[in-house]
Formats: sequence, C-alpha cells, structure tokens
Amino acid sequence: MSLKIYLNGKLVEKDQAVVSVFDHGLLYGDGVFEGIRAYNCSVFKLKEHIERLYESAHTLMLEIPLSKAEMENAVVDTLKANQLKDAYIRLVVTRGPGDLGLDPRKCSRATIFIIADKIALYPKEFYEKGLAIVTVPTIRNHPEALNPQLKTLNYLNNILAKIEAINAGVQEAILLNAQGYVTECTGENIFLVRGKELITPPPYVGILKGITRDTVMTIGRRLGLSVREDIFTRHDLYIADEVFLTGTAAEIVPIVKIDNRQIGKGVPGTTTGQLLAEFHKVTPKDGTPYEVN
Ligand code: PMP
Repeated sequence: MSLKIYLNGKLVEKDQAVVSVFDHGLLYGDGVFEGIRAYNCSVFKLKEHIERLYESAHTLMLEIPLSKAEMENAVVDTLKANQLKDAYIRLVVTRGPGDLGLDPRKCSRATIFIIADKIALYPKEFYEKGLAIVTVPTIRNHPEALNPQLKTLNYLNNILAKIEAINAGVQEAILLNAQGYVTECTGENIFLVRGKELITPPPYVGILKGITRDTVMTIGRRLGLSVREDIFTRHDLYIADEVFLTGTAAEIVPIVKIDNRQIGKGVPGTTTGQLLAEFHKVTPKDGTPYEVN
C-alpha cells in the first residue's frame, strides 16, 4: 500500500502530494513543523506537539487555517489512513505560495501537510554501547536572531553542526552558545547526571524545549532525582557521571564519550537505564486504536 499523505485537508497518494515551487516554506524556510511519534496506534503527547506548533506559528505570525482540535484529528486520520501502529509523523505548516519576495503578506494561505511513515529507529547498538559525540565550532542560533525555541523549517544551523559531526566521524554534535554554554544537539536535548542530580540547560541558553525533555524531567523527579535546569560548560559534561540525549525519535540515548573524553565509566549509566525503562512505561500501550486523546 502506498503512503497516503494529508495535504491541505485531503488525503492524497504520495505521488500527488506536491507543493508549489513558490511556497515560502521552500523558498525561505518560512514555516513550522513537528516530529511526532505513535506507539500502538496511539499518538504520544499529541496535545503538547500541537501546542508547540501553534506557539511557533504565533511568533512567526503564521496563521494556521485549522483549529487545534481539527489539527489533532488530521494527525490521527493520517495515521489511521495508513494503518500504522508504530510511526513517525511529520507535521508541516508553511507560509504557503507567494511571490519571489520575502513579504509573508503575499502568501494568502498556509500549506499544511502530514506524513505518517514507519519509524526508522536508531540501531540497538547506540543504546547498548552508548554514543561518542563531539562539540562543534558552529554555535547555536542566538535566541535574539532565530530563537531555537521556535521549531521552524529553517534548520541550517543544525545541519551545519551535523556536517561537522559527520566530518569528525561521529553521529551527533553538541552545540554551544555564543557564551560557550552547552545548548543541545542537532535534533536532541542534552542532560547530565551527577550523583542524584539531573541537569539540563534552560531554554534561554538557546534550545528547543523538547517534549521528551519535559517527560524525562517528570520521570526523573518521580525516581527521586533532584532535577533542575542550569547552565553548564563542556567541562561539566566531561566530569559528569552520565550524559544522555532525548528526542521524540531517539527517546533516550546514552553518551559515553565527548570530544574523546570518556564519560563516567565509559558505558551507558544506570540512571540513564532507569529513566529509559520508566520512559517505556509511559508510552502508549493498549487503548482504543486511532483515538484522539
Ligand atoms: N532539539 C532540537 C533542535 C530538535 O529538533 C528536537 C526534535 N527533533 C529536540 C531537541 C527534541 O525535541 P522533542 O523531544 O520534542 O522531540
């Protein structure tokens, strides 16, 4: 069965899911998106993703021609139309087609599309052995230039950092901000564990407020950890007991080496393991398939 894509209110075949070359999402990266995950025919944290999408759009003054409830239904309908159980869902809203100038007022209607596809999971090895990553020269976007809290289609800052990671022979990059504080990775948030403390950078250093990040902070508190947002440097990562990344697709990935320094014992840590086990308990199990909840 070929994929059915939601495009501007209709479910169409993959080949028919095309947008204009005049779409400002394509011409200027003018748009917002979400990466969402479904487990067991149920969309995880759908409300939180929709909320973040509309918040990003609000700051961009991008009017989404659907209510939040209609958008939630569109996401679930797309999952259902493809009869997917476990899926990765990409929800995109662009400024829509306009002329060749920047002026967003020339774009009369936003383009909305939703792709629900099989999830491409990270190899098991990443979780069993942990990842080696590096800090890269490209700094994270300054919040007063393009705030990383906005999940926009303009991902070149992240892509440049990703290229630097690939050039260094690793999978992921840690981006610092202009003051040298740790922000996040190209598509995941970062945490460090020291004793019973679980620390992650605050949004004002320049990060996306990850939905997995929020879930992990809640789980951490439930496990009795002292969880806080705080600024920290590369040095703090090097001397941490454990470091891990969080994201919708990745869930929780242990980091065992940063810039060639071994982190903790050089194997995935026990706190990271406990958090991942607890995380798996909160993802959807059984329930009414394809229900908006
Ligand atoms: N930071 C960035 C830059 C991201 O793109 C993402 C999402 N891929 C995350 C963090 C993690 O956010 P979430 O847990 O909401 O997927």
